[in-house]
Amino acid sequence: MVNIVLFGPPGAGKGTQAEVLKNKYDLVHISTGDVFRYNIKNKTDLGTLAKSYIDKGQLVPDEVTINMLNAEVEQHQKVKGFIFDGFPRTEAQAEALEVFLKTKNTDVKAMIALEVADDILVARLLERGKTSGRPDDADEEVIKNRIKVYYDETAILKGYYEKQNRYHGVDGVGSINEITERLSKVIDTL
Ligand code: AMP
Repeated sequence: MVNIVLFGPPGAGKGTQAEVLKNKYDLVHISTGDVFRYNIKNKTDLGTLAKSYIDKGQLVPDEVTINMLNAEVEQHQKVKGFIFDGFPRTEAQAEALEVFLKTKNTDVKAMIALEVADDILVARLLERGKTSGRPDDADEEVIKNRIKVYYDETAILKGYYEKQNRYHGVDGVGSINEITERLSKVIDTL
């Protein structure tokens, strides 16, 4: 199995690229943000809980997120691999993913990060907010908090994967095709 963590701050283009790459490499794309939004739309208990964090730009607690991710993975047997988008976001999540994948005799082959400057992120997210229908994209304060949470809690994961020689950084500014090419160059060496 080839399991990839697509990494980067909010607005880096993880979701867009994951959709392209899943088709190109025949992988299953799991976005924890999408699963939360699906639950919010369907008014499940998980959705109600998640919404209280997401609307403020905070992270949903680890235990809830980890259990949800594991359940999503379990739904896909005999696949070539997964693209994880928006997970892990904390060290506890990265460790839980490691343990969980080990029970499936597999691991994270690489973390590939899309690198984009903060001012570009805010502009992209505000633009996306005009059409995405996501309340967390429409409010500049919430966007800034999401980016702050990324640096405070998530960015540390670069070191986690770097230590194990599994980190790859890619320039996340350019056309969709150009960025797919850059990501593919890394994936093709895995
Ligand atoms: P995203 O679609 O990846 O931008 O995620 C939207 C929001 O969902 C985030 O701002 C968090 O509130 C929540 N979320 C998504 N993934 C995670 C995660 N791995 N851990 C905690 N919260 C998450």
